[in-house]
Amino acid sequence: MSELYGIPLETAFSEGIASRHWQARCLHCDEPLVWGHGRGWCHLTRHGDLGGGCMMRCDACGWRDAPRTPPARCPHCGDPAVRDDHAALAI
Ligand SMILES: [Zn+2]
Ligand SMILES: [Zn+2]
Repeated sequence: MSELYGIPLETAFSEGIASRHWQARCLHCDEPLVWGHGRGWCHLTRHGDLGGGCMMRCDACGWRDAPRTPPARCPHCGDPAVRDDHAALAI
């Protein structure tokens, strides 16, 4: 398990530590990014967990999130038109 500031990553995120100690902002969406070991820059999910590198969006309902595992359908409306919006790029 990866660590963040000496704290196991899962604990850090569950306690909201990571969301207070994000390390960069995304050039594209200005949202916080956290470096994931072996994963590179990752967005946070809307729950504050370590998400995926790509921000995803649904054109049908406007849903946006960065799930760690990209869904085949929008988790909000079920539309299959969910797609990657952009990959995380730190500034
Ligand atoms: Zn972004
Ligand atoms: Zn949707």
